[in-house]
Amino acid sequence: MIAPEPAPPFHIPPIVTYAVPFFVLTIIIEMIWVRVTRKGRYQVTDSFSSLAMGFGNQIVGTLFGAAFVLAAYYWVYQHRLFTLQWTAPVMVACFFAEDLAYYWFHRIAHERRFFWASHVIHHSSQHYNLTTALRQTWTGAIGFNFIFWLPLLYLGFPPPMVLMFSSISLVYQYWIHTELIGRMWAPFEWVMNTPSHHRVHHATNARYLDANYAGVLIIWDRLFGTFVAEDDKEKPRYGIISQLGTFNPFRIAFHEWAGIWRDVTRAKSLREVFGYLIGPPGWSPDGSRKTSASIKAAWARQQAAAVPAE
Ligand SMILES: [Zn+2]
Ligand SMILES: [Zn+2]
Repeated sequence: MIAPEPAPPFHIPPIVTYAVPFFVLTIIIEMIWVRVTRKGRYQVTDSFSSLAMGFGNQIVGTLFGAAFVLAAYYWVYQHRLFTLQWTAPVMVACFFAEDLAYYWFHRIAHERRFFWASHVIHHSSQHYNLTTALRQTWTGAIGFNFIFWLPLLYLGFPPPMVLMFSSISLVYQYWIHTELIGRMWAPFEWVMNTPSHHRVHHATNARYLDANYAGVLIIWDRLFGTFVAEDDKEKPRYGIISQLGTFNPFRIAFHEWAGIWRDVTRAKSLREVFGYLIGPPGWSPDGSRKTSASIKAAWARQQAAAVPAE
């Protein structure tokens, strides 16, 4: 018989809820700072739609998402390989495992359109400030984002432990959404995800595409070859390849799902259906649309042509 689930030895606070006053306070400070120094940017309508997305994310999560995700977590946990206890070494291992799961979730969320349809919301602002961090998806649970964490439950990390580190990661990633912090202490930049690294992640410049998927630790990008450093000579342009041009939260939340529906219903073969669903964002049967790979390839050709021949 499988051992009972070990109980956490301490009360786990609702980390994200507790962080909300800190979010509000720091957004006000950043707004004032931007006003005074004219460094960074705020657009009221854009910030309002980001806040609406964050609020909607919490509502959907409470009403539906949490139950769905917990059911999946506990179903897998029932079939776990080991029963890991709430000890310090297990918690350290869980922190690293959760961060690695986040890296792969986030990378696939950019590389496969089905997952991109949920994640694109976070990238839909053309601004980069603390409110951008709150621009969160409404379709994460129904978009099966949680599957990337299931291996942790299968290994035997208790579900509340995994959820605790997911919350810590979410709160950690909040403060890196700012243009007011430049480059930090070099050893810190080497190990941790920072404002500089995450600006690159939100940029649409060809040289910055598909980079820095890290949650808390940037080491995963260095390890898997997706790390790109911010270049002081090239300022990031934020947003997505085809900018949305709307502040309507409902259009922001569902536009890519609508796009998938449009494409799939017009597909002429099963190959096209799969291409539109799980191909890279921008995939098209004849290659006529832009994907980040085609944009990067065109940029690389341009760079090569610009180098004068010896
Ligand atoms: Zn992303
Ligand atoms: Zn972000």
